[in-house]
Amino acid sequence: LSSFDVEGVRRDFPALHQRVNGHPLIYLDNAATTHKPQAVLDATAQFYGRDNSNIHRAAHVLAERSTKLFEAGREKVRQFLGAGDAKEIVFLRGTTEAINLVANSYGRRHVGPGDEILLTQLEHHANIVPWQLLAQQTGAVIRVAPINDRGELILEEFARLISERTKIASVTHVSNALGTVNPVEQIIPMAHAVGAVVLVDGAQSTPHIPINVSALDADFFVFSAHKIFGPTGIGALYGKKHLLDAMPPWQGGGHMIQDVTFEKTIYRPAPEKFEAGTPDIAGVVGLGAAIDYLFRVGIPAIAAYEHSLLEYATQALATVPGLRPIGTAANKASVLSFIIPGVSNDAIARHLDKQGIAVRAGHHCALPAQRHFGQDTTVRPSLAFYNTFAEVDSLVSALHQLPKR
Ligand code: PMP
Repeated sequence: LSSFDVEGVRRDFPALHQRVNGHPLIYLDNAATTHKPQAVLDATAQFYGRDNSNIHRAAHVLAERSTKLFEAGREKVRQFLGAGDAKEIVFLRGTTEAINLVANSYGRRHVGPGDEILLTQLEHHANIVPWQLLAQQTGAVIRVAPINDRGELILEEFARLISERTKIASVTHVSNALGTVNPVEQIIPMAHAVGAVVLVDGAQSTPHIPINVSALDADFFVFSAHKIFGPTGIGALYGKKHLLDAMPPWQGGGHMIQDVTFEKTIYRPAPEKFEAGTPDIAGVVGLGAAIDYLFRVGIPAIAAYEHSLLEYATQALATVPGLRPIGTAANKASVLSFIIPGVSNDAIARHLDKQGIAVRAGHHCALPAQRHFGQDTTVRPSLAFYNTFAEVDSLVSALHQLPKR
């Protein structure tokens, strides 16, 4: 662990080296979005400054370069997720759009009246609302597997709720509100045993733990580039090839067609049939650079370093008078939500911001998970591999200096 060169890593992230309110920035809002290494900034600038073109393979040299870069990005995502075939990777705006695509395309074809969609109480609103819309349109029913007082999914309840009526189980890999790691390696076979498909929301797992969709046997897996040190506005859906091939397009437009007449349109095969219009080519280039960067640092090394940082932070926060942690699962990543009864969450976040410490106070788009603890909002520091033990010390000492109530 001492071998993890956090200072070397920090030098790669220009945004970390600024002062905020007269203090060096301590950025602990990584569950909301992450900063970008210079390699990502360079890759996008170079794309726009040199290669910029739309992606139509054979038209001219710049177009060919752009197309190659775009498809190289797809191959990097394939590797990053451990997928078997780059055609199983669809580029979309992010996790939210990817879940909406699956709900609309797969969902409308395979989900009917009385069918069930199984979620967990830990879900982000992005993994709730698209399924509610689908249920309203199809007459399907949403079931929710509850959590215990540590914020862990109660697996027996999940097992009790899943049945032949379940068509889709859609579960987060890591909770953005509580940090809980869901046992997806147990959930997926349970769903397959009743003939359901599983979507794994990887928005909060991809920044912290190695992913292998093939080993997991996930049917769909989604994530956002901006949470893994890449650009905003781009993300990806992994879908098993036979599922994507059988799914109807969701949006229509250019790029996604083989032939169009006013009578009939023939679509290109997946993934193109799901990528209507000019995609975020620079975003894909930046995402590819972020993945290259993560592979260079080493995702297992990142996971190990962050794990010890999280354990250290958990113990250090426990020394703050009155602090109540929200979410104390045995298996957690990155997130350290808490409240301090008697002080508002906003006041805590503002007090920290005055000292250059960025955390989020709010509902974190996961109201059902927080309401289990009787809270609509919490204060949520969240770690990335560029955070240090000294930064955690600063957070804790700032909390010790909270103005007296
Ligand atoms: N799911 C989870 C678990 C998340 O943390 C987030 C982002 N907060 C999302 C989905 C939505 O991601 P995006 O806003 O990038 O589409």
